Amino acid sequence: MALDADWAERWVRRTADAIADAKGELTELDRQIGDGDHGENLDRGFKAVVARLDDVAADPGAADERTVGDVLKLVATTLMSTVGGASGPLYGTAYLRAAKVSGRPRIDPPAVVAVLEAALEGVSSRGKATVGEKTMVDAWHAAVEAAEAAAGDGGSEVDVLRAAAEAADTAATATIPLVATKGRASYLGERSAGHEDPGARSTALVVGAALAAALA
Ligand code: ADP
Ligand code: MG
Ligand code: MG
Repeated sequence: MALDADWAERWVRRTADAIADAKGELTELDRQIGDGDHGENLDRGFKAVVARLDDVAADPGAADERTVGDVLKLVATTLMSTVGGASGPLYGTAYLRAAKVSGRPRIDPPAVVAVLEAALEGVSSRGKATVGEKTMVDAWHAAVEAAEAAAGDGGSEVDVLRAAAEAADTAATATIPLVATKGRASYLGERSAGHEDPGARSTALVVGAALAAALA
């Protein structure tokens, strides 16, 4: 089973649902070490993404050979224009890079790894954070490493995404004791320790939605 553009659309719609459900939690996390807008920022962005997907679905002339990248590109451009703050450009660049490596109707396990890798590269090149700085990079990086290992073991698309989702979730939790050295949370210095990074948590939701979409 390869993952197609319909999977990508389910992924994005499930992400929007997960973000909407976790909006209060993400905002509360951001209240602890930032400015308390991460949940609102992402919820606004993903609601706009869903509205644009609905428009495309309603268009009878919509291309039937839609690629995974087409869906991810729509996410990128919408997030860039609707989400402010740090996370808008970071997620926007992640989806844009992911779109560039998935311009095909179907993707296999190595290509799923490439999508996650491209997203990580996008976030890293845009925000210049490395692992351990208590940002979303921590969750993306863990997802990529786990996905690579699962694909290397000959895992299916679901195996790869399950490994990635579990690793991203664990990595988000593991940001709690860290001191932030990038982004708004770094203004708190040592006082940023003891709180989970909101962007790492939202990344775990994004990767978890990719798995849920593959299982659906
Ligand atoms: P803002 O901080 O501008 O209000 P958000 O609250 O939407 O933006 O997003 C904050 C999240 O963005 C942080 O939790 C962190 O994960 C992520 N972030 C901030 N700066 C960086 C960076 N330089 N590199 C990677 N991620 C970052
Ligand atoms: Mg914020
Ligand atoms: Mg803000």
